[in-house]
Amino acid sequence: MALVNENYLKLPGSYLFAEIARRVNAFQKDNAEAKIIRLGIGDVTRPLPEAVVSNLHKAVDEMTDAETFRGYGPEQGYQFLIEKIIQCDYAARGIKLDTDEVFVSDGSKSDTGNIQEIFGAENIIAVTDPVYPVYVDTNVMAGRSGELNDQGKWSKIVYIPCTAENNFIPSLPSEKVDIVYLCFPNNPTGTTITKEELKKWVDYAKANKVIILYDAAYEAYIQEDDVAHSIYEIEGAKEVAIEFRSFSKNAGFTGTRCAFTVVPKEVAAYTSTGAEVQLNKLWNRRQTTKFNGVPYIIQQGAAAVYSEEGQKQIKALISYYMTNAKIIREGVEALGLQVFGGVNAPYIWLKTPAGLDSWAFFDKLLSEANVVGTPGVGFGPSGQGYFRLTAFGSKENTEEAVQRLKNRLQL
Ligand code: PLP
Repeated sequence: MALVNENYLKLPGSYLFAEIARRVNAFQKDNAEAKIIRLGIGDVTRPLPEAVVSNLHKAVDEMTDAETFRGYGPEQGYQFLIEKIIQCDYAARGIKLDTDEVFVSDGSKSDTGNIQEIFGAENIIAVTDPVYPVYVDTNVMAGRSGELNDQGKWSKIVYIPCTAENNFIPSLPSEKVDIVYLCFPNNPTGTTITKEELKKWVDYAKANKVIILYDAAYEAYIQEDDVAHSIYEIEGAKEVAIEFRSFSKNAGFTGTRCAFTVVPKEVAAYTSTGAEVQLNKLWNRRQTTKFNGVPYIIQQGAAAVYSEEGQKQIKALISYYMTNAKIIREGVEALGLQVFGGVNAPYIWLKTPAGLDSWAFFDKLLSEANVVGTPGVGFGPSGQGYFRLTAFGSKENTEEAVQRLKNRLQL
């Protein structure tokens, strides 16, 4: 008799987006004429940059000729892309990496989800709260979570609240933890921490043999100088941190799929008898066994991001979304609401007006302004009383949505 992995049965259904869809559909049914604007999505809407498209076409043509056809590629990624990543994203910031420390993949979702496989089941996991749900759910699947309590917390996971009260700066855990997920710029709050704050985490990790899993999927949105683009800008981070980066949000690859993960050779964890093991070796073993690489065509598209034209075009994309972020931020501020994020990230996190929880504000926004956002509580208990708006819509829709908030929202 085959037994299932019962950890999967502990996972609640994907309540957040299903519930949003249910409420939007019900509203639309009763208000057929309402033109709903969605500022809730985390997906980009602008097309791929021309430089990327041009390289994709060339690579497709290469596949039509036996001389230039490519079959299975290296599981870790092609050297032409890895070298560009190292040169432009790391060496340019004074960070030295070897080519076997970068692993190209089909997404940061897969990598942040899969990375826990190389760690023992006994590890205590810590997450900032609110949080990108993948970190938590994949550890539930792996049996590291314990049970879900009625405040929406898993008994064995350590939650580090990030709220207006602590200015969204996570404090170092007071209890013992082994692995910490950090995400900056943050989804969902859109906030960042300074290099000085990040250094405290690196020092803490070194002192306590803790591993930091650093998700920098929104790195390209950083505008301020004192925010690190890579955790390896912080001294000592190569000994304790794994970094995840993606082409999804800087170059519109959400549907095209390409990302990479950096696992420096210095970063190590331990066996139960205390022997040190290089995580780079384990991740390489995992990837070469379970993953067959990102398509050549897609990696050629990603490589174009680093060309002169590509760099110009992705800057224009980011500037487009960041203009939307500014429009939302200033618009919501003008309503007298407290707003966070949106300066180094495409996410705006607002405090719901007194007396309204996240879902009550969702309903109000939908019914009065016909605008859809995401209730903060869907990202974790500390998200209660907050609400996420995203800058990934079109400029026209963003402007119209903000105008509606000003004209129609009764605060
Ligand atoms: N990490 C964070 C924090 C995200 O918000 C997302 C996507 O929304 C991802 C990772 C997924 O990135 P990818 O498209 O590379 O899988």
